[in-house]
Amino acid sequence: MNGKLYIGGKFSAATDGATFDVVNPYNLKKIGEQAAATKVDVVRAIDFAESGFAALKALTAHRRADLLRKLYTAMLANEREIAQTMTEEQGKPLKEAIGEVRYAASYVQWYAEEGIRVQGDILAPSSSKMRLHVLREPVGPVALITPWNFPLAMMVRKLAPAIAAGCSVIAKPAGQTPFTAVKFFELIDQVGFPEGSCQLLTGSAAMIGEALLDDFRIRKLSFTGSTEVGKMLAQKSAATLKRVSMELGGHAPLIIFSDADIKKAVKGAVLSKYLNSGQACIASNRLYVHAAIKADFVAALSESVRGLKEGNGMENADIGPIIDQNAYQKIALHVDDALAKGGKVLTGGRGYRAADGAGGYLYPATLLDDVDDEMLIVNEETFGPVLPILTFEDDDDVIRRANATPYGLAAYAYTESLTRATKVMEGLEFGMIGINTPGLGAVQTPFGGVKMSGYGREGGKYGIEEYLQTKVVNIGL
Ligand code: ADP
Repeated sequence: MNGKLYIGGKFSAATDGATFDVVNPYNLKKIGEQAAATKVDVVRAIDFAESGFAALKALTAHRRADLLRKLYTAMLANEREIAQTMTEEQGKPLKEAIGEVRYAASYVQWYAEEGIRVQGDILAPSSSKMRLHVLREPVGPVALITPWNFPLAMMVRKLAPAIAAGCSVIAKPAGQTPFTAVKFFELIDQVGFPEGSCQLLTGSAAMIGEALLDDFRIRKLSFTGSTEVGKMLAQKSAATLKRVSMELGGHAPLIIFSDADIKKAVKGAVLSKYLNSGQACIASNRLYVHAAIKADFVAALSESVRGLKEGNGMENADIGPIIDQNAYQKIALHVDDALAKGGKVLTGGRGYRAADGAGGYLYPATLLDDVDDEMLIVNEETFGPVLPILTFEDDDDVIRRANATPYGLAAYAYTESLTRATKVMEGLEFGMIGINTPGLGAVQTPFGGVKMSGYGREGGKYGIEEYLQTKVVNIGL
């Protein structure tokens, strides 16, 4: 594939023709080249986003909804092609990639409907000679910077509400996964949004990020990625007082109480940890199981985890390759650290190079026992298919330990007791809590975190608020 930029309603090469290589993380073979934008391209994209904003704002919300509905239909019609591209460049099993395309499309469908329900107010005045109006308007051109782990969903979850609200966008996907975004933009191109509504920039993240954030005309940044980069981008955004949404790292606890339904809990633990090879900000990163049921639970979980096979996402693997060497090394470091401090491998435990040894990095589904609160893996985001098991005896104590992290994105608990579920619901300091379910991404709900996991929400009626600002108009009679 030879991927281009998308600026002002047209696909184009970079002004200097520069490109970068995109590789398949399973075999490290080059799968194509992607345009690397220059500063001139970025400025051109901002110019078009400015005119595109005016054009998009001038459309009725109903017209924008029509266009989003067309996009939704096109995404479903092309789901296999997009998913194959995603698996090729990102590595996840094809069935998960298809699931991601459908999931992303559900946001386009939702915001086609939400956009026509944006409403202002007319307030009762305190003088008969005044009229008071509150208008809800789009914030302006927005920059969307997104990661490689869910290359389509993370971008679309921002783009759909932005367009529905009337904001033009400049999307900057991760360097590892630009082709999924190009495929998506081919559909954007077919739908017929006004020129300049949506731009796609790829290339140097630092240069593009800086040029977008330094420009006053970009009125908002929505970012999904690491806490480290998020903090830096929030600081840069302050110079022009852009509005900012940040969906950052997490360190999700998964608590299995003594009265948990073990079958349900095992299923939930497997899904919440091993989907996308654990490369998810809401992946459970530490499991606390009550001492009374530990033996039974761990036996059932181990059996289930042993059934997962790592390999090529195109060939029915359950666990695809790790995205790159850096990511792999972090996983290996966390496991080595745990083993050096007394941890024990129950299953999995050692990564390797794919295929003939020259390929990408695979890490088998791994369970670690005899883990304690001091180990790296219990404190830092692993972003890999490794689940450390810790034990607890006291409910209040496990809630305290679960909260002992600077992160606050997702948390999970399994219990059949309403009292315990309520304690968990009220006691855990996280933006999203799954009780007896690993599912936290429903399109209706506000996805996002607290503490160092960021601020801002994506999804449902909440997600569109991020792209709206309030204007008061008082009329004297
Ligand atoms: P991850 O650890 O998931 O790769 P990153 O925070 O590094 O998370 O990347 C998330 C997104 O942020 C990607 O699109 C990446 O290209 C982008 N990014 C990384 N560094 C910068 C930067 N200095 N300026 C702007 N964007 C950046």
